[in-house]
Amino acid sequence: MSKIKILDPKIQNKIAAGEVVERPSSVVKELVENSLDAGATEIQVNIEESGMKEIRIIDNGEGIEADDAKLLFERHATSKINDDYDLFQIRSLGFRGEALASIGAVSKVTLETLNEDSEPVKIQYDGGTETSSEPGRARVGTDITIRELFFNTPARLKYVRSLRTEAGKVIGIIQRMALNYPDVSFRLMIDGKEKLRTSGKGDLKAVIADIYGINIARLAVPVEASSPDFHVSGYLIRPEVTRSHRNFINLSVNQRFIKNFRLSQSVIKGYHTLQPKDKYPIAVINIDMDPKIVDVNVHPAKTEVRFSKESDLNQLVEDTVRKALRSETLIPDVEKKP
Ligand code: ADP
Ligand code: MG
Repeated sequence: MSKIKILDPKIQNKIAAGEVVERPSSVVKELVENSLDAGATEIQVNIEESGMKEIRIIDNGEGIEADDAKLLFERHATSKINDDYDLFQIRSLGFRGEALASIGAVSKVTLETLNEDSEPVKIQYDGGTETSSEPGRARVGTDITIRELFFNTPARLKYVRSLRTEAGKVIGIIQRMALNYPDVSFRLMIDGKEKLRTSGKGDLKAVIADIYGINIARLAVPVEASSPDFHVSGYLIRPEVTRSHRNFINLSVNQRFIKNFRLSQSVIKGYHTLQPKDKYPIAVINIDMDPKIVDVNVHPAKTEVRFSKESDLNQLVEDTVRKALRSETLIPDVEKKP
């Protein structure tokens, strides 16, 4: 008798959920990415009890057609790529078609959505199974609520309940998204209190002020540089402002925030000698590049990337940072004696 079988899709989704949605803050990240990919200019995020009671995201993006809404919780269901040609030049934040399937498999979801080519729908899902459907909202956009996250994965539930840092993580995620999308107005509410609000007027320096305070924003030095492959832009906070962690070096590629040790090392090297040892700068740097030279399909969370021409990029960032700081006459040239 054969022993190998293909697992039921529901179990497949629960397995994937372990990687894609590790914790409540990863759910928030995936859902806000979907709102941004849908072209939203206003995104409201509400979190109750570290996301364990409720995570709700309301956007004014393009919404989802009623027929598509039925497919959402299927694994690898996506509107963003079609084939492997698309896979190797990704411009959207999502592309794996896994987030909603994974989130749906381990929670109870209410989705209200309206796309202008379709009728409004309001659907309830329970562990990925549709339990009710009725006409929904009158405004184009999407309103999605996640409740009882991890209700059917007992070990994960226990682990996540023991986490104390979730609100801080959610704030960090929304801050970085706001820095990457100054044209989008974000509002983050945690347990009924407003934690962040940005205007969406497209002014990155204003977003820096919303996040780090006006006194820090006043010390922001613009950076901009191009090479044939890369365009670097953003702000550096003057070196007298220091932090004891490198987390304040905000890096993004084509508006996707990334974690990249070497690249943040290049920023630190650019500040070299201007800051004491073991102190780190605040910086906001986006690098635009042809999506063909960056691989974002490295890890399910999509924050790790691989570059071709990595050393060129590191050098460009280091030089750009150094020059920008110098041009602010932060590093005075040695005075010539008459
Ligand atoms: P991916 O983002 O990788 O495509 P997801 O599981 O996150 O996969 O979402 C599946 C699909 O659902 C998306 O491709 C998109 O078509 C649709 N979708 C999800 N959230 C939204 C939203 N807020 N607004 C419009 N469409 C959405
Ligand atoms: Mg997505």
